[in-house]
Amino acid sequence: MTDVARLAGRPVIIGGGLAGLMTALELAPEPVVLLSAAPLGSDASSAIAQGGLAAAMGDDDSPELHLADTLAAGDGLCDEAIVRSIVEAAPRAIDRLAALGVAFDRDAGGTLQLGLEAAHARRRIVHAAGAATGRELMRALVAAVRNTASISVVEGFAARRLLVENGVIAGVLAAGGTGSMALATGRVVLATGGVGALFRDTTNPLGCFGQGLALAARAGAAFADLEFVQFHPTALDGVLRPMRLVSEAVRGEGAVLIDETGRRFLAELPGAELATRDAVARGVHRHLARGHRVFLDARACLGAGFADRFPTIAGYCNDAGINPAREPIPVRPAAHYHMGGVAVDREGRSTVPGLWACGEVASSGLHGANRLASNSLTEAVVVAGWVARSVAASADTHHVANALPPVPVRPDPAFACDIVSSSLGVLRDGESLREAVAALLPIASGNSPAADPAAVALMMAVSALGREESRGAHSRSDFPLRSAAARRSRITLDAAQQAAASLDFLPIARSA
Ligand SMILES: Cc1cc2nc3c(=O)[nH]c(=O)nc-3n(C[C@H](O)[C@H](O)[C@H](O)COP(=O)(O)OP(=O)(O)OC[C@H]3O[C@@H](n4cnc5c(N)ncnc54)[C@H](O)[C@@H]3O)c2cc1C
Repeated sequence: MTDVARLAGRPVIIGGGLAGLMTALELAPEPVVLLSAAPLGSDASSAIAQGGLAAAMGDDDSPELHLADTLAAGDGLCDEAIVRSIVEAAPRAIDRLAALGVAFDRDAGGTLQLGLEAAHARRRIVHAAGAATGRELMRALVAAVRNTASISVVEGFAARRLLVENGVIAGVLAAGGTGSMALATGRVVLATGGVGALFRDTTNPLGCFGQGLALAARAGAAFADLEFVQFHPTALDGVLRPMRLVSEAVRGEGAVLIDETGRRFLAELPGAELATRDAVARGVHRHLARGHRVFLDARACLGAGFADRFPTIAGYCNDAGINPAREPIPVRPAAHYHMGGVAVDREGRSTVPGLWACGEVASSGLHGANRLASNSLTEAVVVAGWVARSVAASADTHHVANALPPVPVRPDPAFACDIVSSSLGVLRDGESLREAVAALLPIASGNSPAADPAAVALMMAVSALGREESRGAHSRSDFPLRSAAARRSRITLDAAQQAAASLDFLPIARSA
């Protein structure tokens, strides 16, 4: 095992997506280590983000309006003070990205072009390269990181365990193709992204299966709102993983959802195809479950103009052998974004001293029960700044552990993926959640490659079982109504294991 003594004592940032890159850049000139399982800019949701970043930049807009839209989407579970801080900081975050070299789309006079997305009352989506915002963000920020001498980039190494001594972070155990290493540090920032790849149908890169949540869980951290997963209603249905997004903007142009008989099956839903993301996802899911196929039909509204208006999506369709000008596009819901995550305070600190989190792995309180589109990239940039200031202000009290534990085996999400896909999808119910918990508990408590993903899935399933209501993206067929009182959920791995062990796993009695 390599002990990387030269890097000892530096903050270690785990994850090379938007949140990790920004944390490293905001900490400069303090020397830091940026650890990324994949080469910077790849295998990160940030790189494939399409629409852009929400920020109240328009003359007719204000942080107050952005706040109101975010709270409405969050369905009662947002932390209003956090939302306010983030929406107020959003315009400065855009300026900061521009100063770092991100080329946002502007009009001939140099003014930012602002897009409109569902549930935003104003045009406030700052984008780049049309609908390839993530690619441009990564291009500019990876270059900025590589040009910053204080950032030591360690690529191709995945963090496998956080070292904890007397309840405080002491280091990171990582492994890669060329061996393993122990980084001694008292300051670790998790920026490892989401959990989409715990689901068979997902838009997330396949490395996004909650590795950061597992690291935090084994270190004893608390989590918030883990049951809330946003499903995108119209991912291109096919064998390719991650699934390609057919953006809401296509429905915004008038495309309708039909089934194999040509029936517009969501016509009765208030708002029809432009209802909220969770409502459309439920409608599509139910229709598929009844044995239908579902298609997005843009023939009448866009027809031959489809490729001009949506070149990237036309390319995805083309790759799948579909001509959207002449054929309806097959779609199905896919896991897209995790609202829950490591519970953090307003500096991004977790409950474990020395451990911070930002980006999708964290639950800052911004999104509540449902993320407002394009708020997540903004959050990653703003909260990375808060985290960097907090890390810089904290003394490093690291000490190298005397006896290092063995590096855990490479995690394999396949076991958890089967269970999560069937029990934690668009519609949940107590019976299948109980079965999931029963199957996950022994695996999560073992040491096999399936253990870490199972531990994450167990915490999500126990949280979903405990939320006996339907709110935002969490829909229970056995509890279809929203509770009068809104409460955020909190859990640790210990608490999830105890709750799971005390559950009665006998099948729930059904009435005749
Ligand atoms: C198709 C798609 C489109 C989207 N469009 C938008 C949009 O338009 N606007 C918006 O606001 N949001 C959008 N989102 C959501 C948004 O992209 C993500 O929430 C955001 O990019 C998350 O950034 P992150 O830095 O937290 O994580 P990521 O960008 O996913 O980066 C995580 C990084 O951590 C690394 N990593 C993971 N585990 C380990 C480990 N154990 N050790 C070392 N490294 C590790 C990964 O390799 C990766 O580099 C979209 C998401 C998808 C999938």
